[in-house]
Amino acid sequence: MEILDFTLDQLTYKFEVEFGKGLYHASALYREIFKFGNPNFLDVKEFAASPALARQLKNRISLSPGQVVETFNENNLTKFITQFSDGEKIESVIIPMTNHQTLCVSSQIGCKMGCRFCETGKMGFKKNLLVHQITGQLYNARFVLKKRIKNIVFMGMGEPFDNFNNVIQAIQIMNEQKGFDIALRYITISTVGLTSEIEKLGRLNMPGLRLAISINAPDNRTRSWLMPINKTVSLQDLKKVLKNFPLTKRGGFLFEYILIKGLNDSSKDAIRLAEYIKPLPVKLNLIPYNPIKGFRYDSPCDDDMNSFANVLTDKGVFVIKRWSKGYSLAAGCGQLGNNLGGL
Ligand code: SF4
Repeated sequence: MEILDFTLDQLTYKFEVEFGKGLYHASALYREIFKFGNPNFLDVKEFAASPALARQLKNRISLSPGQVVETFNENNLTKFITQFSDGEKIESVIIPMTNHQTLCVSSQIGCKMGCRFCETGKMGFKKNLLVHQITGQLYNARFVLKKRIKNIVFMGMGEPFDNFNNVIQAIQIMNEQKGFDIALRYITISTVGLTSEIEKLGRLNMPGLRLAISINAPDNRTRSWLMPINKTVSLQDLKKVLKNFPLTKRGGFLFEYILIKGLNDSSKDAIRLAEYIKPLPVKLNLIPYNPIKGFRYDSPCDDDMNSFANVLTDKGVFVIKRWSKGYSLAAGCGQLGNNLGGL
């Protein structure tokens, strides 16, 4: 059994059913792996007193976060590549914040969504990551790369809602107080806007979990061209679902808008975007496009970015300008996947 697949409750249940033991031993195992990253988890006192159980567990438990085979560093930002036993590789990024670090995790190998500005989209879809391959990224970041990860964003390779069950289970594990202990309000799922999964998430009891929507255009024509999902879920459909989403009292959505020179960066676009956003509690993350091969558009200059942001701010929109970290590492938004082929 893959230990990184389990919440503490699930592990305790497994211990009761399979080994006739309970919370005492399950907690010890959980603590050693999820809190301390101890690969010799059976060497602790709780198991020294139960050698038969330790022997059984040794044969049954696998700890498979995948192997970190390559890291790239620049200005404290780290991109790392994990290889799994089947040879497949994924990328994750560690982003420095003021007092801690944020881990950007992947949820799939490749992606079906085909957004035009995205390197991962160009790879096509290979497979969904398993739960332990998602939680393993956090395990490796904390215990192999020794980073102080406090925030998680599902903004790496893949559309997280297209791997809904595994992503939600991984979040529950990341949130486990006696393990990784990352509060839900520090976890963000970023989606292109798969409305039935947004509704499904709304029905789960996960208060505080943050939802980011990749918007990128203020009108259906441009958005459908940039993001094929918009042909089936229009901006209006999306808005209807967001309006009904059960937010916490002070909660809101994060909208991400990749600003692409000459495509979605005019002041008319900014006005239309402000109109679209208006009734929703939204913070807008404005991100300059990172050029990728095969997409003919350029990044906006700082002035374009500022004027776009100013129009929105004047209309009452809360704007966060993100000067894309990880530009030269190709580790910015929509940039993951472009080093995998060459490794
Ligand atoms: S931007 Fe996200 S959803 Fe779109 S193709 Fe890239 S990884 Fe997939």
